[in-house]
Amino acid sequence: MVGGSVAVIGAGVAGLCASLALAKLGVKVYLIEKQPKLGGLTPQLSRVFPTLRDAKELINPLIEACRNHPNITILTEAEVRSVEGSLGDFTLHVSEASQSGGQTEKTLKASAIIVATGLRPIDAGIVKEYGYGRNKNVITALELERMLSSDGRVVRPSDGESPKCVVFVQCVGSRSLRSSEKPYCSKVCCMTAVKQAYELKKSLPDAEVYVLYTDLRAYGRGWQELADEAKACGVRFVRARPSEILEDPETGELTLWYEDTETREMVELKADLAVLNVASTACWPSLGDVLGVDVDEHGFVRPPNPLASPVDTSRPGVYAAGGCLGPADIGEAVIQAYAAVARASEALALNIGDGRSILVVGAGVAGMTAALALARQAFNVYLVEKEGEIGGLLRRLDRLYPTGEKAEQLLNWLAEQVKSEGKIRLYTSATVKKAERTSRGFLVEISAKTGEETLEVDAIVVAIGAQPYQPLGECGYGELEGVITQIELEERLKEDRLGTPRTVVMIQCVGARTPERPYCGKICCITALKNAIQLKQKSPSTEVYVLYEDIQAYGVDGEAHYRLAQSLGVRFIRFAEANPPRLLYVEGRKVLRVEDSLLGREITLSPDLVVLSTPLTPTEAAAGLASLLGVQLAPDGFMRVTDTKLMPVDTPVDGVYVCGTASGPATVQEAVAQAYAVAGRIASKLASQ
Ligand SMILES: Cc1cc2nc3c(=O)[nH]c(=O)nc-3n(C[C@H](O)[C@H](O)[C@H](O)COP(=O)(O)OP(=O)(O)OC[C@H]3O[C@@H](n4cnc5c(N)ncnc54)[C@H](O)[C@@H]3O)c2cc1C
Ligand code: SF4
Ligand code: SF4
Repeated sequence: MVGGSVAVIGAGVAGLCASLALAKLGVKVYLIEKQPKLGGLTPQLSRVFPTLRDAKELINPLIEACRNHPNITILTEAEVRSVEGSLGDFTLHVSEASQSGGQTEKTLKASAIIVATGLRPIDAGIVKEYGYGRNKNVITALELERMLSSDGRVVRPSDGESPKCVVFVQCVGSRSLRSSEKPYCSKVCCMTAVKQAYELKKSLPDAEVYVLYTDLRAYGRGWQELADEAKACGVRFVRARPSEILEDPETGELTLWYEDTETREMVELKADLAVLNVASTACWPSLGDVLGVDVDEHGFVRPPNPLASPVDTSRPGVYAAGGCLGPADIGEAVIQAYAAVARASEALALNIGDGRSILVVGAGVAGMTAALALARQAFNVYLVEKEGEIGGLLRRLDRLYPTGEKAEQLLNWLAEQVKSEGKIRLYTSATVKKAERTSRGFLVEISAKTGEETLEVDAIVVAIGAQPYQPLGECGYGELEGVITQIELEERLKEDRLGTPRTVVMIQCVGARTPERPYCGKICCITALKNAIQLKQKSPSTEVYVLYEDIQAYGVDGEAHYRLAQSLGVRFIRFAEANPPRLLYVEGRKVLRVEDSLLGREITLSPDLVVLSTPLTPTEAAAGLASLLGVQLAPDGFMRVTDTKLMPVDTPVDGVYVCGTASGPATVQEAVAQAYAVAGRIASKLASQ
């Protein structure tokens, strides 16, 4: 075993993945769990979206592997009371259930700490109007998960009968300004409803299934596609928020009233079962005080530098993963877990990479971060960039979500480190020509400005990014003056050559969520919010409109941006998919007509600038590189990953990893976390070989 030990607090999917990866690095791990059982929320689930894989099949092997690993010591019914010391020498005071039923105090020594204490749903009874706790047939999504996962039979709690009409109610206690509720979007509850509604419709085809929602946040990879499938099999998605749910004490029948915001009709709906998708909150409320790390006003860990180091806390040597950083799905929690492993491995100077080499293809923010994280673990890194300059899309961006810092600042900071890091060899204007498998890894031929070179490497990281879709011929792009894309707006903002437009209209979903490109671009709503805020802050008199179908302002920061944009006077107009905005040129002026589906009337705007929000699409090089490496592309054209939940940065080809937007749209923060995760995965994989 190598020197040093790590305390992992919380044994959900993030804590388990982190523990196992660290154990494989040869580190001694203390896995500290408050509950008697391991696994956190995941074992309570039936299936996981979007693949609908059995949740127990996913989590049980991980629990078993942790139980059986000689480097992992598990403490259940245990809680950390206080932490002293610093990186390399922490002392944790832990209280643990004793066999006699009392509590014993234990002192553990650890060189680093990973906190992975996850989320828990808030008490659904807080939202009084839905009568949870009073109405027998009003249950939570987690209770439905348990029904679905025990024998798969869904029944009304009042009489054990199969329901004929089930209603899902979204955003319960989330996106609310009431003091007892949460202002943020809880991120996974839209997809939880999609998944559960789909499962219900499959098992009870005659039942009516409604999802009453505000925005359908189906932004992840394969999520929109599952939502489309649920719609196709008869789940009825209605944009509405019920005012109240009443239950007939005799029959158990529920009555809901809501206004259908599309038809503007008041509807009275009779149902047998209502499922509340309630907000998530931090599972360990005293985390900040006990660990001495900064948390935000909601109790989530606040990384001091969220873009460059998204899993670091304010206390050196303490890292965070999963729901304690804010709502996350399993895939995101696992990425953060591997990222935390990479950071801990760096801090402990395990030097796993000694004598080993890695090829990183693409020197955007993900590729540079991965290269640096690997170099800090003592790997030799060959960083191959096809352009003459490094930085990728970051070179074209103005400010970055969610912190608002200049993209240039992050880019320069990374580029300086890449250029001065002795373990990184940077090749610009370079491409991979050939890759052959060897007993060690791969023999790769690259062609660079300096000539051809053959490199022997242990693993390959694909970080080739993605490109914004160019909507030629759509909404007047390429035809009318003053019609640009968000990336072009970024460039104008960055170079300070936008001027002061009178009216700017942003149109969402141009070229996304279409039959040709069914996926959601995930970050184009956030980009629109960020830029709309920028425009308003620079010039309050500029009128800014955002025409949208669903606003994907997911998570804590997303909702905060949405709210800020609204408070600055950005006007949001919802249009129906079947009735998109029309841009005309009348007497030398642009005229935009849009049917506001919430107000039910046509609105005419005269913008001097129209900004189209288009999705990221796979780069032209993706298919060629994928075929050189033997990696199949996914149906959306991005790099395929082995398993979006448990192996989100591995490709099906052993030794080939992927990070950043090469595997689908991602924010900078998400791309950086993936890059660290790749470094964590590679280290633990190679160390255990
Ligand atoms: C109804 C519902 C349905 C969902 N469906 C899906 C889905 O289909 N797909 C998907 O990707 N995601 C889904 N999610 C989200 C998924 O559950 C989370 O992404 C995942 O559980 C996050 O993992 P984690 O390890 O961060 O947290 P958790 O799974 O919550 O694990 C955290 C662990 O830390 C422990 N802990 C807490 N405090 C302490 C402490 N002080 N000391 C020690 N231990 C502590 C907890 O007991 C727990 O074991 C769903 C969530 C809900 C509520
Ligand atoms: S994911 Fe966000 S929008 Fe969807 S139900 Fe949850 S809180 Fe509401
Ligand atoms: S604009 Fe982009 S992120 Fe927003 S809903 Fe459309 S595709 Fe998704």
